[in-house]
Amino acid sequence: MVSRRQFLRGNFKAARPPQRPPWALAEEGFLDACSRCGDCIPVCPTRIIVVVRGYPEVDFKRGECTFCGACALACKDGALPRATGQAIPWAIKAQIGPGCLARQGVECRVCGDHCPVAAIRFSPRLGGPPVAEVEAGSCTGCGACVAPCPVTAISLA
Ligand code: SF4
Ligand code: SF4
Ligand code: SF4
Repeated sequence: MVSRRQFLRGNFKAARPPQRPPWALAEEGFLDACSRCGDCIPVCPTRIIVVVRGYPEVDFKRGECTFCGACALACKDGALPRATGQAIPWAIKAQIGPGCLARQGVECRVCGDHCPVAAIRFSPRLGGPPVAEVEAGSCTGCGACVAPCPVTAISLA
């Protein structure tokens, strides 16, 4: 008999693990620690934490993470251990895909207008509108640029 966690582990081995809430333990530890109580979900002010297959995940299509820490504070199982002084909880960065309008020759700066840390630059180029580029060193992985993109060209990884 395969347990739920064994099943999920097996499933996640092949694919990239789901995006857990900020400060989450690495996937195996997270699945062990999280009791699926759901306490992190209603406290999120931007409502980006959703339940998928029983466990919480972040859905940046719903909005951004403000790094407020409410989810970590609400988690009593130690699945989201927020270290003191650890402002940025993850290493994920925004990635702009080939569907980006600017790369298709259409002027668009929507993502840049929504980035709270000005991590998206627009490089001039000959024969077309400036192209959006993410400065990985500045990007916090907050996801604020994801939902506003009119062609859903941005993902976080
Ligand atoms: S840190 Fe705040 S905004 Fe980010 S997922 Fe947790 S509760 Fe939501
Ligand atoms: S908002 Fe989307 S389409 Fe517009 S520049 Fe940014 S990535 Fe490209
Ligand atoms: S994920 Fe956040 S910090 Fe990174 S480029 Fe998008 S809006 Fe800016």
